[in-house]
Amino acid sequence: MKTIFGPVNSRRFGSSLGIDLSSQLKQCNFDCLYCELSPSATMQEQVDTVAVEDIVNELTEALKTHKNLDAITFTANGEPSIYPNLNELVDEVDKIKQSTQTLILSNGANIYDPNIYKTLLKFDQVKLSVDAISKDIFNKIDRPYKDIDLDKILSSIVKFSKEYKGKLYLETLFVKGLNDTKDEIKKLNTFYLKLQKIQRFDLGSVDRPPAYPIEAISFDELYDISKEFDSSLPIFIASRKNLDNKQSFYTKDEILNTLDKRPLTKEDIEILFDNESKINLNLLEKEQKVSKKEQGNFIFYENSKNFIKKRKKH
Ligand code: SF4
Repeated sequence: MKTIFGPVNSRRFGSSLGIDLSSQLKQCNFDCLYCELSPSATMQEQVDTVAVEDIVNELTEALKTHKNLDAITFTANGEPSIYPNLNELVDEVDKIKQSTQTLILSNGANIYDPNIYKTLLKFDQVKLSVDAISKDIFNKIDRPYKDIDLDKILSSIVKFSKEYKGKLYLETLFVKGLNDTKDEIKKLNTFYLKLQKIQRFDLGSVDRPPAYPIEAISFDELYDISKEFDSSLPIFIASRKNLDNKQSFYTKDEILNTLDKRPLTKEDIEILFDNESKINLNLLEKEQKVSKKEQGNFIFYENSKNFIKKRKKH
């Protein structure tokens, strides 16, 4: 059975070899509206499982051919943390990964299980998801397995963010009419601010045909949503679908004002700024009114005043 795929190159996580922990069927504790896989019944533990030894043998072979990787990504047609041998597998991969980092793309739904919590701590990089803070919205979007407790997920993610030593990312996917309300964004912002040492908050929407009939949010709408979050948060707009934004002209003041609301990545600037605005941005950088910092694999530009303010705050 083939479990290793790639290498794939992603803007967010670099070049990686993937381990698909459920290559034959969807096995997940969620049945998200936006899932690119077909709708299916949820489960807490996989029913169809690949042996650790088979995965490690396949990975060992693949690592002989593919060098200079940024990550070995644990993923699945479903949720990788419901793979019952995850703890043993990450230990085995650690033995052969050399300088490559282990990364898991998890929905975070069972992070409050003490064994899974401990296993997640072993990864070099962890990406968790939080789509909603309100239970009714969470239930509508993520359609979780019946016993899953949102309050426990949220409090465990906060705890994990304090304890975890690796690179932690958080992702929120927006679905039109559900979690894109001012009220829900405010709640998400309050939650984001409780987290520590997050490399990047990725805001996305439906990029591929979804499991259920739902509407995606355009880049422009995501950009507006991103401005509702606290300017100290490293927010990245991960979805580039429906990119209907035209490049605009920004004066120097407008740039400072925009960056005061939220840091922009180099990629955002490519989409939003026309050439003259980019010249203005360079000037502001030379005048040290705008600072650049690398975080979560991206370059973020921010208002220097804000940067100093935040450094004091933390
Ligand atoms: S967590 Fe991922 S795999 Fe599971 S239903 Fe949601 S989108 Fe699909």
